[in-house]
Amino acid sequence: MLQSILFLLLLVAAFGLFAWQVRKIRANILVGRDRDMSGNVAERFQKTLLVAFGQQKMFKRLTPALLHLIVYVGFLVINVEVLEIVVDGLFGTHRFLKFLGPVYDGLMATNEILAALVLVAVAAFWWRRNSNPPLKRFSGPELRLWPKLDANIILYVEVVLMMALFFMNTADLKLHQMEGQDLPGTFPVSNLLVGLLPTNVATLEVLERTGWWAHIIGIFLFLNYLPSSKHFHIIMAFPGVWYSRLVPQGQFSNVESITNEVKAMMDPSFVVPPAPTAADGSALAPAPFGAKDVEDLPWTNLLAAYSCTECGRCTSVCPANLTGKLLSPRKIIMDTRDRVEEKYNSPLIFQPNVYGAEAKHEPITDLANATLLRGKVTPEELWACTTCNACVESCPVNINPLESIIEMRRFLVLEESAAPNSLNVMFSNIENNGAPWAFSPSDRFNWADELFATEKQPAAVVA
Ligand code: SF4
Ligand code: SF4
Repeated sequence: MLQSILFLLLLVAAFGLFAWQVRKIRANILVGRDRDMSGNVAERFQKTLLVAFGQQKMFKRLTPALLHLIVYVGFLVINVEVLEIVVDGLFGTHRFLKFLGPVYDGLMATNEILAALVLVAVAAFWWRRNSNPPLKRFSGPELRLWPKLDANIILYVEVVLMMALFFMNTADLKLHQMEGQDLPGTFPVSNLLVGLLPTNVATLEVLERTGWWAHIIGIFLFLNYLPSSKHFHIIMAFPGVWYSRLVPQGQFSNVESITNEVKAMMDPSFVVPPAPTAADGSALAPAPFGAKDVEDLPWTNLLAAYSCTECGRCTSVCPANLTGKLLSPRKIIMDTRDRVEEKYNSPLIFQPNVYGAEAKHEPITDLANATLLRGKVTPEELWACTTCNACVESCPVNINPLESIIEMRRFLVLEESAAPNSLNVMFSNIENNGAPWAFSPSDRFNWADELFATEKQPAAVVA
């Protein structure tokens, strides 16, 4: 009875704290600019099924895809055992799901095999992140300090959870064997380990209970660590993919007010729609062109920042990054999440200026007035982008770093007139000459005149 009450309190506290953190994150996402994402339900459902649930884009790289698949399926299947632990904890039962008979045997056997494979996959992941020198994809400046520690913490926690599971099962198996009883379920890995445990009943009971409590408390702690971690993608990848763009990848959105202005210039009968007003009918301050800070980005971009796995696939294919430019699309996404948490709500474990001044390309001197643009992302990074879409194509959870880059560039050009000089020259050429080149429109056909002049020469002269 006492154990059930203690368990109930822990369960309520764990889920209550998690819900409190999720509310904060929801509020962070909703500070973004409004964007209507209704409709296209069938297409979105199909995309979510393939990309988020089916991990379709992961399989562009086979080895990490298989390792990730083991951990992912292990996470899904082991949840059945977690459900059983919760019911046992609340009602004082022991292996509540044993009534499933052969299905229970299969479930427990699958659990144990997957748990062992998860340990192998975790060891491989650890090596990939911590080998010396590390893999290039895991060694960008944005991955120093907290993100690296975060990735390792997740791996250590997974080891602890799997070990606790094996302790619990093996000790339980041995206790039943010593009492001459059959433990419901099939436990292929624990069967191999059972000889390693002592034969003292009291010690076995302590080991079994320790494994049981360690596993469930570990899960409660992990649940509340998730919102502070890149591992939150195990939840956010699903809404992130659901709300990802459905339009062709190269398609840019237009700025509505500018589109209307151009339409009015081209067609005098076009009626410019009235500017949006506040609920009380008063005029709203016009929204800035592009994005300077997180509120200027669409809310879907903030949602995407929470679904980023920090895998670096985007950066590893970015031609700007590959040719030594400062741009890393992964950093743009990580900066967006850091910025919204710095300015609005932080989850339980706040991630302060996470990768330290030495990793930043320009030290921030004016923290109070810092914004996403310049506070975290520098114009030099933004102008390095070739808009090739390689990052978008490679992202396993359909994140679009290019959209945020374009929005911040728009702000630089339209609000600050701060385009690089080469672009300013092009802009003024378009304005003055109707073309990007520095030639007068009247000289545009000089090449043809020269060609005709050559062709009209007498054959002997041309020869
Ligand atoms: S679109 Fe820009 S950020 Fe993305 S891969 Fe191409 S150059 Fe890099
Ligand atoms: S944006 Fe996508 S590809 Fe890039 S690090 Fe995040 S999850 Fe990986």
